Amino acid sequence: MRKQIVAGNWKMNNDLVHTESLLSDLKKQTQTSNAEVMVAPTFTNLYHAFEALRTTNVVVVAQNMHFAENGAYTGEISASMLKSVGVETVILGHSERREYFNETDELLAKKVDAALTNDMRVIFCFGEELTDRKSRNEETIVKNQIKNALFHLNAVAFKNIVLAYEPVWAIGTGETASPEQAQDMHAFIRKTLANKYGNEVADSVSILYGGSVKPANAQEIFSKPDVDGGLIGGASLNAEDFYAIVNAF
Ligand code: 13P
Repeated sequence: MRKQIVAGNWKMNNDLVHTESLLSDLKKQTQTSNAEVMVAPTFTNLYHAFEALRTTNVVVVAQNMHFAENGAYTGEISASMLKSVGVETVILGHSERREYFNETDELLAKKVDAALTNDMRVIFCFGEELTDRKSRNEETIVKNQIKNALFHLNAVAFKNIVLAYEPVWAIGTGETASPEQAQDMHAFIRKTLANKYGNEVADSVSILYGGSVKPANAQEIFSKPDVDGGLIGGASLNAEDFYAIVNAF
């Protein structure tokens, strides 16, 4: 069985005071689903979150990292630094990193390698823009994003890879992919993996959907056979909404 995962990407929100209050709200929630729960605070709050959630089953995740181990990269954070504060999972390739920080498939391949070399788990994000979908190029775009950043890996490496399909047009816009659109793309992604690595690998990799997932639409999206969970932005900033989504399985 594939792992079901609901991960909250807090993006550049919440200073220390707001993080403390959200963490304390999270600890009051009750989980009724089997999903693995993750939250991704900003770098400055990772250690605090790790300490605060130590007694829970919530996994603390980083939103990004650099590919180098250390050195003259002002403002950057390495895998071993993340691990030293208890963080063993990292989101890579988010569309906001690609768009505002010019992260390319080539750079992301290096980041993925660095994370895996450090025994970290990667939530690898990708997704097409609206113009791609309008021109019916979404499958080609998605396939190339996966191929360019991940297909140099061997099959065993996929034990530590989670995929997150986030159509750019659905992020923070209130416009969600329909459950059918999500399922179609997730099935295509699984087929792409199967063609390269075989069915066993393809069937074992969790594929999350991200883009305006809310308590009101989570259940229908998660009911699709190839949707193994969600990467949640806005709705993860409220503990009750987030757990309504966690419990939508
Ligand atoms: P929203 O849920 O706010 O659309 O954000 C999705 C996202 O980008 C998660 O990484």
